[in-house]
Amino acid sequence: MKTNWSKVLIMLAISGFYADVAIAATIKDDGTTVDASHKSDNQSDYHPTGRGWGELDTSHRPAGLLRSQRGNLTYQGGPVMAGPKNVYYIWYGTWDIASKNVLTNLGTTIGGSPYFNINSTYYDKTGAHVQNSVTYAGTATDNSSLGTSLSDANIQTIVTNQINSGALPLDPNGIYFVLTDKNTKETSGFCTKYCGWHTHAMINNTDIKYAFIGDGETQCAYGCGVNTPSPNNTPGADAMASIIAHELEEATTDPDLNAWYALSNGYENGDKCAWNFGATRTASNGSSYNQTFGALNYLIQQNWSLLPIQGCMQHYP
Ligand SMILES: [Zn+2]
Repeated sequence: MKTNWSKVLIMLAISGFYADVAIAATIKDDGTTVDASHKSDNQSDYHPTGRGWGELDTSHRPAGLLRSQRGNLTYQGGPVMAGPKNVYYIWYGTWDIASKNVLTNLGTTIGGSPYFNINSTYYDKTGAHVQNSVTYAGTATDNSSLGTSLSDANIQTIVTNQINSGALPLDPNGIYFVLTDKNTKETSGFCTKYCGWHTHAMINNTDIKYAFIGDGETQCAYGCGVNTPSPNNTPGADAMASIIAHELEEATTDPDLNAWYALSNGYENGDKCAWNFGATRTASNGSSYNQTFGALNYLIQQNWSLLPIQGCMQHYP
């Protein structure tokens, strides 16, 4: 695959049925089929792409040794988002109120949670640890201004447009999530290579962190972990919640793709535990969940903790 690694993106590779065939050629955690371009990096065997290349679905497979758990994360010297972080949502397309409520509640309550506290085990070169602080700081709406088939460049444009219009601030401590509706496609590989990704770019001379998260409910329910029933009876949004958490924690601990990742394969913390949910409970509607944020339940992937030993956890301590 031709990839410009000087402008890499980090994506959460998709799971499941598609993954077994569609991304087989990019499996890299066993080092046998990796894209040769990874090897051009003289700093390490692999560096993050932001897209989590090589992840395989584990959510529909028996428990056991997860492919993605091999190889610890190491610190490569880049910044982390140690201070308070501001989350911004850009609702792209058409959204129902119930789905928006589920994801808004996530954004407003994940900060300070025992789950997000896992990220506080990460630190930068000054020894500053990530603060367990996330503020839902703003929201904007984009009524499909660039159509329903988006490129990677379009995602950055969508973010830039909201900043330039004044709808959202230019915030170096921000993480901007472009949340697309059920009918919107991302042509670089949504549903076939990833369910979401994060990266950063210089926008108006500021290092802006942003992410794409698609709604796979009708496009790739199995591939992007859409369950029915789901904890809040909003299957697409409930699945997106786990992807948002994934990209949020990666943007926090590896915002510029040069801080915390596994040299063996470029995996970031979210990648390490993708589709790994740990113990779950059953809600009254029959859905599975493992986290409660505010008043709502969610099925959220675990996150990779550095303490007490490196591994996937639902909360820290
Ligand atoms: Zn990832």
